[in-house]
Amino acid sequence: MNLRGDQKKGSRPSLLLHVCCAPCATHVIELLKEQFAVTAFFYNPNIYPFKERLHRAREANDLCQKLGVEIITDVEKSHDWSRRMKGRRRDREGGSYCTVCFRIRLAQAAAVAEQGKFDYFASTLSVSPHKEVQIINRVGNKVARGLRTRFYSADFKKQNGFKKSCQLSQKYGLYRQDYCGCVYSLRERDERKARASNPCKTGARDEK
Ligand code: SF4
Repeated sequence: MNLRGDQKKGSRPSLLLHVCCAPCATHVIELLKEQFAVTAFFYNPNIYPFKERLHRAREANDLCQKLGVEIITDVEKSHDWSRRMKGRRRDREGGSYCTVCFRIRLAQAAAVAEQGKFDYFASTLSVSPHKEVQIINRVGNKVARGLRTRFYSADFKKQNGFKKSCQLSQKYGLYRQDYCGCVYSLRERDERKARASNPCKTGARDEK
């Protein structure tokens, strides 16, 4: 693993940016580069199936190459996301289940930032309109407790952040997934598609 946090200190502080996917990273990297020496960090053991995780990691790598940003990629197949989520009640996207998912990813980002002597770490997660920024920031600050590195609290969807990330994704020709990442969000996506193709199925009325 290439850790450069302490080597990048010049006029700007160093920041390790947890990247959930390339489309969300576009706008956030542009924004943070104005203030920080940014290194991206792809760590998303939630993404199912594994080939989808590899695909999103490749897209993130390609984007970072285009933007001239270094990226650390951790796509170990053996990460135990599913085991750590076992026994937890799955609710809607954005519920308590997702809070645990954020914690797993942000705790790893904090550990890598600490090890690499980064001044800050942050996450692209708050770009998504489906994710609660207060929860992300609370989790980020919590996992940073007792560490030297600090969590950079932000709401990246502000000032049209999400719209800008969509426009930049188009500009860079990025793959844009249609589900968050885990097996449950994949199932929800499939159910949505099935309802859309058959409006007589239960649940179709909710969407009208
Ligand atoms: S919906 Fe997204 S944030 Fe929530 S548990 Fe699944 S992958 Fe994680």
